[in-house]
Amino acid sequence: DISVDAASTEHAEEIANAIRQLKDHNIEVLDVRDRTFNLHQGGKIHVEGKIPLRNQEELAMAYTPGVGRICNAIAEKPDRVYSLTIKGNTVAIVTDGSAVLGLGNLGPEGALPVMEGKAMLFKAFAGLDAFPICLNTQDTDEIVETVKRIAPVFGGVNLEDISAPRCFEIEARLARELDIPVFHDDQHGTAIVSLAALFNALKLVKKPLDSIKLVINGAGAAGVAIARLLKKAGANTIVMCDSKGIISSDRTNLTPEKQAFAVETGGSLADAMQGADVFLGVSVPGVVTPEMIKTMAVDPIVFAMANPIPEIQPEQVAGLVAVMATGRSDYPNQINNVLAFPGILRGALDCRAQAITTTMYLEAANAIASLVSPNDLSPEHIIPSVFDPRVAPAVASAVQQAARNSGVARH
Ligand code: NAP
Ligand code: MG
Repeated sequence: DISVDAASTEHAEEIANAIRQLKDHNIEVLDVRDRTFNLHQGGKIHVEGKIPLRNQEELAMAYTPGVGRICNAIAEKPDRVYSLTIKGNTVAIVTDGSAVLGLGNLGPEGALPVMEGKAMLFKAFAGLDAFPICLNTQDTDEIVETVKRIAPVFGGVNLEDISAPRCFEIEARLARELDIPVFHDDQHGTAIVSLAALFNALKLVKKPLDSIKLVINGAGAAGVAIARLLKKAGANTIVMCDSKGIISSDRTNLTPEKQAFAVETGGSLADAMQGADVFLGVSVPGVVTPEMIKTMAVDPIVFAMANPIPEIQPEQVAGLVAVMATGRSDYPNQINNVLAFPGILRGALDCRAQAITTTMYLEAANAIASLVSPNDLSPEHIIPSVFDPRVAPAVASAVQQAARNSGVARH
C-alpha cells in the first residue's frame, strides 16, 4: 500500500519505481520516509532563554518585580530599548507568501518553512535573531501598516518573497516611514551579489563597467534592483527585457519601475543580445539559445540566474563564453544571496542605521568581490563560497563604514 505525499511529487516516480523493483524481489515496503520532511517535523527554530531560572531570586530579576525597573527605565528613555532588550539583535522576516522561492503565491502558511530557514541563516552566518512573520494579507496598505505596528520589537526588517511590483512600493513606504533599516532581499541581496560577481568577471575580461552593454532579462523584483544598482555603480548602457521583449518607451502600461529603464528601440531578447558584453538573466528557464550567445560581443559574460533551471545551461555555453554563473550550487560561480543579507543586516544593526543606502549596497558588493584574491580569480571562481567565514564580517564592516559615511549610523 504505497502513498506518496503530494508535496514530495518531485521524486514520486523514482520512489514508486524503486518500490516496484523491490516487490519484484518479493520485498514488501512498509513505509517510505523523506529525510527533508523528517527534518522539518516541529519546525526548524525555537526561542530559548539566555539566562538561568533556577531559583526565586533569578526569577524575580528576569521577570517581575525586577523587570519592572527595566520597563520604567526604557519608558523614560525609549532609546534604552536597544541595550536592554532583544531589539538591537533582532530582525523581522516579513512575507505575504505571494512569491515564495520560484514556487509562486503559496500564502502565509506555505511561506513559513522558507522564513524559518532564512532565520536559521541569519543566525548561522551573522549571529542575528530573526523571526518569521508571515502575514495573512496581500494588501499593500495592510502590510505597511502591520509592519509599522510591530516594528518596536525589531532592529531591522527583511522583506521576503513579496511579489513585484507591490514589493517596490511596500519597501519604499516602509523605508520612509520607519527609522530602522528595511531590506528586501529578493531585490537588493540579488543585486549586490550579482554586482560583486560582475566586478570580478569584468576584471577577467578587462572591460570597464561604464563602457559595456548589459542586457538584463527579467524586470521583476530582482531585475529592477539589479538595473538600479548597476546604474549607480556606473553602468551606462543597460537594455532590459521582460516577457514581452525589450522594454521600450513606445510600449503602453509600463510600470514606473520599467519605465525608468525604457529604451527607444524595441525588439526581442535575441535583438537585445546582439553585441552585448554581459547577459544577466533573472527571468525563466531556457529562454536563451547558444545562437543568441554567439551574437554577443567578444568574451561574453553570462549570468543565468533563473532558479532552479537557468535561462541557459552551462553545458550549452561551453567554449562560447568567457565567464558563466548561475544561481545553482552544483555549478561553479553560484550567485547566492546568502553572501549578502546576513552581513548587510549585521552591519546595519550594529551601527543602528536609520536606513539602508545605495552606498551601503555598493560597498557590500565591493567587499564580497574583494574576497576573491587576484591569484584565486578565474572564470570558475569569481565569487567567494557561501561557507567562506570571512564573507559576513567583511560585508558587515563595509556596510557599517558606508552607513557612517552616508550619515545614517546612530551608534
Ligand atoms: P519576478 O518578480 O516574478 O520577475 C520575473 C520577471 O521575469 C518578470 O519581469 C517577467 O516579465 C520576466 N519574464 C517572464 N517570462 C519571461 C521571458 N520569457 N523572457 C523574459 N522575461 C520573462 O521574479 P524575481 O523575484 O525577479 O526572480 C526572477 C528569477 O530570478 C527567478 O527564477 C528567481 O529564482 C531568480 N532569482 C535568482 C537569484 C539568485 O540566483 N541569486 C536571486 C533572485 C532571483 P513580466 O514583467 O513581463 O511579467
Ligand atoms: Mg526570497
